[in-house]
Amino acid sequence: MVKAVVGANWGDEGKGKITDMLAKEADVVVRFQGGANAGHTIVNDYGKFALHTLPSGVFYRHTVNVIGNGVALNIPILIEEIKSITDRGVPSPNMIVSDRAQIVMPYHILFDQYEEERLGGKSFGSTKSGIAPFYSDKYAKIGIQVSELFEETALKEKLIRICETKNILLEHLYHKPLLQPDELFETLKQYRELISPYVSDVSAYLENALKDGKQILLEGQLGTLKDPDHGIYPMVTSSSTLAAFGAIGAGIPPYEIKKVITVCKAYSSAVGAGAFVSEIFGEDAEELRKRGGDGGEFGATTGRPRRMGWFDCVASKYGCRLQGATDVVFTVLDVLGYLDEIPVCVGYEIDGKVTTDFPTTGKLEKAKPVLKKLAGWKSDIRGIRAYEELPENCRRYIEFVEEQIGYPITMVSNGPGREDIIYRDFK
Ligand code: GDP
Repeated sequence: MVKAVVGANWGDEGKGKITDMLAKEADVVVRFQGGANAGHTIVNDYGKFALHTLPSGVFYRHTVNVIGNGVALNIPILIEEIKSITDRGVPSPNMIVSDRAQIVMPYHILFDQYEEERLGGKSFGSTKSGIAPFYSDKYAKIGIQVSELFEETALKEKLIRICETKNILLEHLYHKPLLQPDELFETLKQYRELISPYVSDVSAYLENALKDGKQILLEGQLGTLKDPDHGIYPMVTSSSTLAAFGAIGAGIPPYEIKKVITVCKAYSSAVGAGAFVSEIFGEDAEELRKRGGDGGEFGATTGRPRRMGWFDCVASKYGCRLQGATDVVFTVLDVLGYLDEIPVCVGYEIDGKVTTDFPTTGKLEKAKPVLKKLAGWKSDIRGIRAYEELPENCRRYIEFVEEQIGYPITMVSNGPGREDIIYRDFK
């Protein structure tokens, strides 16, 4: 059976913790999209870890961790990340990497930086991990698959062709040093050394795993609102963040995904530019940012302070719908225990009309939040394990949100640890 863990919002919903928790029952954990541009924070017996490329199953001996074909594979970063966890006492993870995954090249990272520099104040707030140039090249069919590392003659020729076009931009648009095909070839030979032990036919592996009745977990990065088709385009990421893409980015039939566990945070946060209707500023934002997540809401990759906002029912309802949520996990609820009243965004006012449907970007820029205030519970809910033991106002908050978004909240997360979870009809 295949389950997907994905985000309903702008990312940073706490997917890493949920995947790490569910990975306990999984035989295989698969990353199917994105790259080293975002990070998951996981707290477990080994300590606190920020994972960027590694699947969240790496802390379990029994899981096979898979980098699917949909991922932007940064080979040196992957190898460094493996080392960073084994250096801290985690046993060497069981890993396989798709021979069809494409490689983030050093020039993708450079082009990301150069383009952000060129755009100046109009930049996308990229993490400069090369993700947009990587996916552009993939779909322009000048990307390099892992399998191509093993075809030296063809690879050399391809690099010459790539450098010809890239160098025109480097010389005339960015005024930066040119690329040398020979140097890139040497770099790729080193990459081949590093990645060879892991390379595998992932879709064939997963087909067998399914036949054997294995439990497979697909691990998404970011959330619906960062999806290039259904998100806040163009302030999105460059690969699909939706569960549906899990089938493509892992290489499995779409009908095998039986559960879409959609992670939704009890308040909002976002990184990078783009419309954010329920955003708050000043002291309210400072306070929530300081108390948020586990040790504050700061980017796992960049350390940047995240933008903060109240829970947004409009965006979350849409976020869950596009994911096809079978279950919603409501996370980081413990953080809200300090508030007397908790505002929730229940509608968008656009040109004088109120809607609960999430609009396209142009309209979104004009939307003003319609807020409703719910009573706070003014207590620490960490450590509670049974839903009925939550304070009444806390349950009211959960049930109000559930009704507004229209998808069942079957788990509530009330702390960063694996065991900080309250089940409510989760099967
Ligand atoms: P991801 O990218 O969706 O995995 O999210 P991040 O890891 O960037 O952000 C989630 C942050 O919240 C991390 O620091 C987690 O340790 C923390 N976290 C996850 N669930 C909870 C929770 O229920 N309560 C608290 N206080 N922190 C949580």
